[in-house]
Amino acid sequence: MTARRILIVEDEKPIRDMIAFGLRRAGFDVTEAEDTRAARTAIADARPDLILVDWMLPDASGLELTRAIKKDKDTKEVPVIMLTARAEEQDKVAGLEGGADDYVTKPFSPRELLARINAVLRRSSTVSTEEVIDAGQLRLDAAGHRVLCGEATVALGPTEYRLLSFFITHAERVYTRSQLLDRVWGGNVYVEERTVDVHIRRLRKALEAFGCDAYVQTVRGSGYRFSTRSL
Ligand code: CA
Repeated sequence: MTARRILIVEDEKPIRDMIAFGLRRAGFDVTEAEDTRAARTAIADARPDLILVDWMLPDASGLELTRAIKKDKDTKEVPVIMLTARAEEQDKVAGLEGGADDYVTKPFSPRELLARINAVLRRSSTVSTEEVIDAGQLRLDAAGHRVLCGEATVALGPTEYRLLSFFITHAERVYTRSQLLDRVWGGNVYVEERTVDVHIRRLRKALEAFGCDAYVQTVRGSGYRFSTRSL
């Protein structure tokens, strides 16, 4: 297996060097860019498997770069982790709304960053149709197009099935309503954000019979998260 390629977009050289050093040691193929212009060139040269984007860059903001990456059909599937010195909730939401898959607040340890990178890479790897994924009491049987709890099939409408299979394959992270619309309903269809709430309610109801409704969690001010960890 070839090494996964990570692009680091960070203007502060000492930080960039530290990250690059840690990632190379962990076996990644690392490319570096000091601003968004260099990042675009690097992305065009060779598509990275993941991009680390600093929020504050000299020529444009990391958020703008992230939006551009997520808008481009060639790169929208590439996961982005934002590096930010801003820990405020509204900035986190802005980052996620902009399409970032995760964010890490400075200062962070190389070990913490590596853990987040590995988690995002695991989530982003496409689910093969053969795959069966366990999530707490639930089991996603993608080939059978169903979700099981023990031996029983959870009764789900087509939208609830899509929503739940997305959640199971993207567990433990928060998605805003607009991200869910984009990822589960497809970005080209106009659906109101309230629709998400309706289907979340139906999904919880379907899971209630199996005592699994608490897996679908409301994150105040942000959106929803699927988690099998106890609250
Ligand atoms: Ca910076």
